[in-house]
Amino acid sequence: MGQLHKDITRRHGLATAASAIFSLLLLLGYFLQLTQLTFAQLVVIFCSYWSVHLLMLYWVISGRSRRFSDPSLTLPFMLWSILYISVMLLYAKELRPVLMLAYLAVMPFGVFRLSWKEYLGICLFAMSCYTGVVLYLQHSGGGLWIPELEAFLGITFLACIMAYTVIGREFTILRDAYKRKNSELRRAMARIEELAITDELTGLYNRRYLIRTLEKQRALANREGLPFVLAFVDIDHFKQINDVHGHRIGDQVLAELSLQLKMSIREVDLAARYGGEEFVLLLSGLALEDAGRVLDRIRVRVTEKGFSEVNIPLTVSIGVAQFHPGEDCEELLNRADRLLYEAKRAGRNRVKMEPVEMPLFTETIS
Ligand code: GH3
Ligand code: MG
Ligand code: MG
Repeated sequence: MGQLHKDITRRHGLATAASAIFSLLLLLGYFLQLTQLTFAQLVVIFCSYWSVHLLMLYWVISGRSRRFSDPSLTLPFMLWSILYISVMLLYAKELRPVLMLAYLAVMPFGVFRLSWKEYLGICLFAMSCYTGVVLYLQHSGGGLWIPELEAFLGITFLACIMAYTVIGREFTILRDAYKRKNSELRRAMARIEELAITDELTGLYNRRYLIRTLEKQRALANREGLPFVLAFVDIDHFKQINDVHGHRIGDQVLAELSLQLKMSIREVDLAARYGGEEFVLLLSGLALEDAGRVLDRIRVRVTEKGFSEVNIPLTVSIGVAQFHPGEDCEELLNRADRLLYEAKRAGRNRVKMEPVEMPLFTETIS
């Protein structure tokens, strides 16, 4: 259950408890013969109110109300409660000045959900209902009717409702500001998290994220036996590219190669910039030979493509190591790095993997 759903459920629990207390007070009033209700009227009103209230409560708690714009159904709950209170006030006799306090108990529930206009609407609805009750009682001659007292009650009620309207508006302004700040904060957090794991120049994951993922992959491999392969990809003679064409072009070469690496792997794999002109690819669920084939294809594609803007020949050397169950990430990285070094020593533009140099599956272009 999400936190929001928990909050809504708790709030409705409170509202239901408040309604139950109001109903008990009425029941007490009935037994003490302080109201004009007959038993049949009491039963009909109670059953109507509680059946609708409990049905709405069920919708909210079971999550069926999720398809509505306000899943907490605050507006229908409040309208229904105001109507219930108004009907009861018709029979409340001397209890009316006390029981009309129930209107004021309903109002605060709106500040959590309603827009300011809805809140104003609810206040006006409560006022209209109460006016309707008073006019009906005056017309029918039922219940308590003392003009001075009615004027007093009416003005006090109006003042209270106006105070609630103002407070409701303040609350909705605060609530909206809080929501805005919250979503700004969430966006900023997401951006910070993204920056913390991304290499700025190439947009690939950085070394920190690679190590974190490697640890997870290692745990998965040890527990579930899922194989994975780690490859060090290093640009050959990159220093010369910088020296001949400048650092800016060097940066562009790095960015373009990164994009190519990213496009060459599957979603389950990972490409990271390990540092300088060195990249790491993490290929998941592949046996060493299959990974070697994939990596050799990448190597050939890099060689064929070169660098698009200036005609710079580009080659990479790749060291590939498969994870051995039980070893730590450091050991795996060192093995792949050693294989990369061997590929460099063997003449560059090649893939080296354990235990022997793999046969080239595609033509080497040099
Ligand atoms: P090798 O084939 O042995 O790998 O030779 P290399 O020249 O590629 O390797 P070396 O380690 O001698 O040089 C790497 C160069 O990469 C040196 C450094 O200036 C350059 N470099 C590192 N980071 C960046 C970067 O972010 N941008 C640019 N343009 N150059 C970088
Ligand atoms: Mg290099
Ligand atoms: Mg290097």
